[in-house]
Formats: sequence, structure tokens, C-alpha cells
Amino acid sequence: MHLFTAEALILDVFDLHDRDRIVTFLTREHGKKKGVAQGARTKHSRFQGQLQPLAKVVVTWFEKEGKELGRLSSVELVRPAHKLQEDLDGILTGSYLVDHALEFAQEGETSDLLYRLLDSTVEALVSGVDRDLGARYFEAWVLRLSGIFPSPRECPVCGRPFAGGAVLPPGGDTLLCFECGAGGGGRGGPSGFVVGPETLAFLRRLGRESLETLALEAPGPQVLRQAEELCCRVRRQFLQRELRSYEVIHKTRMGL
Ligand SMILES: [Zn+2]
Repeated sequence: MHLFTAEALILDVFDLHDRDRIVTFLTREHGKKKGVAQGARTKHSRFQGQLQPLAKVVVTWFEKEGKELGRLSSVELVRPAHKLQEDLDGILTGSYLVDHALEFAQEGETSDLLYRLLDSTVEALVSGVDRDLGARYFEAWVLRLSGIFPSPRECPVCGRPFAGGAVLPPGGDTLLCFECGAGGGGRGGPSGFVVGPETLAFLRRLGRESLETLALEAPGPQVLRQAEELCCRVRRQFLQRELRSYEVIHKTRMGL
């Protein structure tokens, strides 16, 4: 039996029987972890109020050799995330971030960069940064950290810098210039998803500016939608499926 203590971001909490909860959390040193919070559903539990998705905590847990599921000993709240639980939009944004972390973080492997990304994004969102911008920043950076973010600078085929836009071919995972992307487009036009110059400029800023700095001069909704669609297509191509929360967000938006 080993005892661990680490700063963590809570990803997911679900009920187990009528007394316990299972908590999934992300740490820098150990990646994604899962443990049982015994008695967390009972009235005077020591975990009361500590187990909310995206809260930052210090968690202490036991692990038995060869067992995937640990046992939580204590959870201390460092930064609550109530602000992302107060309305539907906040809840959806929060679950979108969580879905990424659940999907892209590995169990038992260090996740320093992903941890820092999630931590700083939640920090910014809790302090009031625009959620749409925050979600675009986060989704693009998850792809960057995974090495699958398409370069917004130059065409990987001919090496020329993008002028006037770029295109993501159908089923493709990288942006091409209009000339290289024109194959099979019919009538000489590019086939696939076209990304405009303003969106490319935003994607370049995103690589070098913090979320807070981006927010000072945030792009318009059209640029955000294009950036989102691009990331979504690249991510879907990589995962071969859609994140569940994204489907919900999409349907909710359509319904509004
Ligand atoms: Zn090209």
C-alpha cells in the first residue's frame, strides 16, 4: 500500500452504491487517477463540498499494487469552481474541458503541460474571461500539446506562407494553401473547410499569447466559430469520434 499526496484538478465524480463516490482527478506527476471517496454520499462526510468538477484540490490517496482504483484519504479545496456550475453555459463549458482532459491525459504518466493548461484556463474562466474564447484557447492548445495542431503559418506541401486563407481538405488533419488544396475541388476551387486570414492570425496569436492577453483584444464570433470548427475537425479525425459534451453543446446551440 502506497500513500500519495498531490495537487489535483477534479475531472469527474460519480456515485458508487449509496455511500461512496468515485473521483477521477488530474495530477501533474501521476497523470489521470481514479479513487473511491468512501462515505462521500453520507451526511457528515469529510468530503462534503470538496468534490466538484474542475475544483483545484490537494488530494491524498492510497494505492495498492496492481489496482487501478485507489482510495481517497483526504481532499482539501484550494480553488472552487462554483462559477462554472451556476448556469447551463458554464456547466457545458466545464464538461467540454473535462472531456478533453479525460480523453487526452494518460493514467499514471506525468501530465505537467496538460495540467498547467487546464489549471490556467479554469483560473481565467473563474475570474471572468469570456467562456467562448477560453474554450477555443483550450481546445487548440490540447491539440498543440498532442502534436496534432495544424500549422497556421505555411503550407506543409509547398512551404509557402498562407496568404488570404488556407483549407483543411476533407478528412485531412493539416491546413494547405489553396493551390495545394485545390485537388478534387471541382471548378478549380478548394475542397474542404476554408479558414480565413483573420482566423489564421488568431491561431498564430493563440500560440504565443496568454488567454488573458488574448481576451484584451478578442476576435469576433465568426473567427471563434471558424477556429472551433477547425479544431473540432482535426480532433475528430484524430480520435475517430466526437467528444460527447461537444455534441451536447452543438445541439444546445442549435436549439437556441
Ligand atoms: Zn501549398
